[in-house]
Amino acid sequence: MEKYKKSQDLFEQAKRLIPGGVNSPVRACRSVGTEPVFIEQAKGATLVDADGNQYIDYVGSWGPMILGHAHPAVIEAIQSVLHRGTSFGAPVDLEIQLAEMIIEAVPSLDMVRMVNSGTEATMSAIRVSRAYTGRHRIVKFDGCYHGHADTLLVAAGSGVATLGIPGSPGVPEDIIKHTLSLPYNDIETFASVMQEQGDEVAAVIVEPVAGNMGLVPPDPEFLRELRRQTEKTGSVLIFDEVMSGFRVAYGGAQALYGVEPDLSAFGKIVGGGLPVGVYGGKKDIMAQTAPEGPVYQAGTLAGNPLAMAAGIAALTEIRRPGFYERLEETAARLESGLLNAVRNSGVEAVVNRVGSMLGLFFTKDPVRNFDEAKKSNLDMFSAYYRRMFESGIYLPPSQFEVVFVSAAHVDADIDKTISTAQAALRELGQA
Ligand SMILES: *Cc1c(COP(=O)(O)O)cnc(C)c1O
Repeated sequence: MEKYKKSQDLFEQAKRLIPGGVNSPVRACRSVGTEPVFIEQAKGATLVDADGNQYIDYVGSWGPMILGHAHPAVIEAIQSVLHRGTSFGAPVDLEIQLAEMIIEAVPSLDMVRMVNSGTEATMSAIRVSRAYTGRHRIVKFDGCYHGHADTLLVAAGSGVATLGIPGSPGVPEDIIKHTLSLPYNDIETFASVMQEQGDEVAAVIVEPVAGNMGLVPPDPEFLRELRRQTEKTGSVLIFDEVMSGFRVAYGGAQALYGVEPDLSAFGKIVGGGLPVGVYGGKKDIMAQTAPEGPVYQAGTLAGNPLAMAAGIAALTEIRRPGFYERLEETAARLESGLLNAVRNSGVEAVVNRVGSMLGLFFTKDPVRNFDEAKKSNLDMFSAYYRRMFESGIYLPPSQFEVVFVSAAHVDADIDKTISTAQAALRELGQA
C-alpha cells in the first residue's frame, strides 16, 4: 500500500541483512499478520513513521517510556554529559547517584549492580542465587518472561508465547532440567511443590505483576505465599520488576503489594530509554558478586554515563508528587472507556489493568494465568489490532504484550483511542 511504501522498502532491505528484518522478534508483527512500520521519530505519545503517518503510541518502547518519548529533561540530561565522553570502562559519579535513587525507591535493596539489559539482570540474579544457596533448581511461572537466558526460556511469555513455541531450540535439556515452571497465581500447586522439593530450590523468580502474557494481576495472597515458602526453604525469592518496577508504583510491585523479595531485577524505565538493567537486593546475597565475592558478572558498557544520566533524569521526573496519581487517572479513563466499548459491541472481552499497564483479552472468562490468557481469540485480536493501527492507534502487535499508558497521553489521545476502539469492536461484533 502506498501509505506504507517507505516502511515496506526498508523492511525488504532489513530482511536481507537481519533475521526477520528485526532485532527483536515481536517487532516483526507476524502474529497479527502485518509488517512493521519503521519509526522516523517520536515525541510525547506520538510516533511518526518513515512515510509520515502518525500514531498514538501505547507500546512505549515496550515499557521504558513512562514519560513519553524524547522527554525534555531526559534529552537535556543526556546532552549535558555527552561532552564528557560516552564510556570509560571506569567508575563515574553518576553510577552512585542512580544506585542511590534506586535503593531509596525500593526498600528491599541494600546494593545494586548495573548491567545493560533486563535479560542480564535476571540471568545474573539467578547465578548469584545459585551460588548463594549452593543449589541448582529454579522455579518460575508459566507465561512469565524473564529475558532470553537459557535457564529461563521455559514456558516463557512475550515473544515466545507470541510465536507459539514451547521453549527454544539451542537451549540444552541439561540446562532446563533444573527449571520448573508452574501455573501463575496457583497457590496450592506452588505450596505442594515447595513442600516436596523446596530444599533443592535455589530461587523462585516471578513477575510480581505479569506483563508478558498480556496483563495478569497477581493474587496478593499468591505473592505472600511465595515469600512464606521461600523463607521456609531458604530459597532466594526474585521479583523480576524489569517491567513493573517504577511502573505500577515508584517502589514497584513490591511496594504496591507489600511483599519484599530477596533480590529484584529492573530495566526498562530505570534507564530512561537507554539500555540499562539492574539487579540488587540483600547485602549478603549481593556480596556474592565479583569482585566482592566469587560470582563472575561483568559489562564493558555497564554504568556508562549516558545511560546513567538518562536514568537519573527519568526517575527525577517520575518521583515528583502526583505523578502516579495522574497516570492512574489517565489509565483508569482508558480502561473504563474500553469496558464501555466492549459492553456496547457484543464482543466477549475482558480488560485487566494494574496502574498504567493494561490488557484486553478476547474471552468472556477472567484471565488469571497463562492458560486462561491463551483462551483469547487470537484472530479477533489480530483484526482488532489491524483496525486500530489503520486508524492511527499503535498497540503492541501481540495478545501477549501489554498496553502502556504514559504521562504524555492527554485526554484527547485517550478519547480518540476509545472512540476508535468502539468502532473497531462494534465491527467485530457484527462480523
Ligand atoms: C522486558 C523484560 C525482560 C527482558 O529485558 P530486556 O531488556 O529485553 O533484556 C525481563 N523481564 C521482564 C519482566 C521483562 O518485561
